[in-house]
Amino acid sequence: MYNPKSHKAEEFIDDGEILETLEYAHKNRNNAELIDKILEKARLKKGLTHREAAVLLDCEIEEKNKELFELAMEIKQEYYGNRIVLFAPLYLSNYCVNGCIYCPYHHQNKHIPRKKLTQEEIRNEVIALQDMGHKRLAIEAGEDPVNNPVEYILDSINTIYSVKHKNGAIRRVNVNIAATSVENYRKLHEAGIGTYVLFQETYNKASYEKLHPTGPKHNYAYHTEAMDRAMEAGIDDVSLGVLFGLESYRYEFTGLMMHAEHLEAAFGVGPHAISVPRIKKADDIDPSAFDNGIDDDTFAKIVACIRIATPYTGMIISTRESQECRKRLLSLGISQMSGGSKTSVGGYFKPMPDTENSSQFDISDKRPLDDVIKWLMELGYLPSFCTACYRAGRTGERFMEVCKDRQIHNFCHPNAIITLKEYLEDYASAETKAIGEKFIKHEMEILESGEAIKTAVEKDLVKIEAGERDFRF
Ligand code: SAM
Repeated sequence: MYNPKSHKAEEFIDDGEILETLEYAHKNRNNAELIDKILEKARLKKGLTHREAAVLLDCEIEEKNKELFELAMEIKQEYYGNRIVLFAPLYLSNYCVNGCIYCPYHHQNKHIPRKKLTQEEIRNEVIALQDMGHKRLAIEAGEDPVNNPVEYILDSINTIYSVKHKNGAIRRVNVNIAATSVENYRKLHEAGIGTYVLFQETYNKASYEKLHPTGPKHNYAYHTEAMDRAMEAGIDDVSLGVLFGLESYRYEFTGLMMHAEHLEAAFGVGPHAISVPRIKKADDIDPSAFDNGIDDDTFAKIVACIRIATPYTGMIISTRESQECRKRLLSLGISQMSGGSKTSVGGYFKPMPDTENSSQFDISDKRPLDDVIKWLMELGYLPSFCTACYRAGRTGERFMEVCKDRQIHNFCHPNAIITLKEYLEDYASAETKAIGEKFIKHEMEILESGEAIKTAVEKDLVKIEAGERDFRF
């Protein structure tokens, strides 16, 4: 039944295969010989199968776990260097017809204020986001064909790209909306979206159906096959994720790895990124009502295993997690993070009074973006506002080729330096700017992209100081 090439959900995420994998992983959790073999393969830095990855996740041998964490850090360093790409979510509408048990936007929630941004309000939110320094957004919306039809999403994308406030611009809009048709994905593709993001929530079909009792999201196959339809429509950067806490993390991890394998097998290109959200407290949602919460150590191991199993896939952490937790995960494989986020519909332009709070969930890392940027540099990370790959057509397979050849440093590192410089010139506080200037000087000294690129970056830095913007490799 299990067939990674199939386009049918229950064949590429085959429950039987997951259960056998979990049993195999459990049986071998202390099998040093097998774990050594898997680690040896992992050291080639070309990834692992879901079965191999599941064994590492279950591994109980302390010294092997230490090796595993070290390898994750090494892979992260080799493929992504010290760069961290920044973005912010923009909630457009919390109207929703679904009944998702874990989400306060579920349609039985009659007391949460419902709100849908007008195009004028979106413009104001985008100006506020540009004034923070953001260049990349992830737009979010509930599922409601009447209030938030695809036309509304398309208008909103156009509005976002059209706002050019001072030196600001949103250069990449990623989209996190409910599973939809090939036709709608094609429209999103034509509107110039970056990544299409859809969290599976849970790969376990029986749990999925219980957690989504009503509304179109109830349909497990339609939801699970969404990325196939997006790919068919020409969107070749897709981003996966599960909501950790809903189901057993081992099941979810295996499902996630199988989904990545499926995209590679069926389309020749794996997911562009994987998100690792954990369930949080929200309006009428109490996370302790779900039995599968994971502690920080398990969470760190999941991130390390994803890094090892899918080295070419970016990994995203949101402000659901605390500063401390984010810090730990950065070294293990995270390559993108949100900063200065609001999860309410509106709220960047004008603070929300409590009575109008339409937040999707509570944020743990509440620091302004400037603090996050400063903190990253103090930890030795290079904050990046780069959006170059997708604008240069390096998406899907082409992006993966660059990544697999490890040429990514030649593009990404210079682009990170250039976009950080723009941030420092236009938006940073005096303290962040001072730290940033020193940081860029150091990064230029160690830049490994060759003399020609180095000289070009130096020239661009001078031009940015003189007021020019938007350079990229
Ligand atoms: N409505 C779209 C869909 O159905 O996929 C967009 C998703 S929603 C705006 C973004 C994500 O937030 C969801 O996919 C879910 O994983 C996550 N989410 C929902 N409730 C949450 C909670 N209480 N804590 C943390 N994340 C939550």
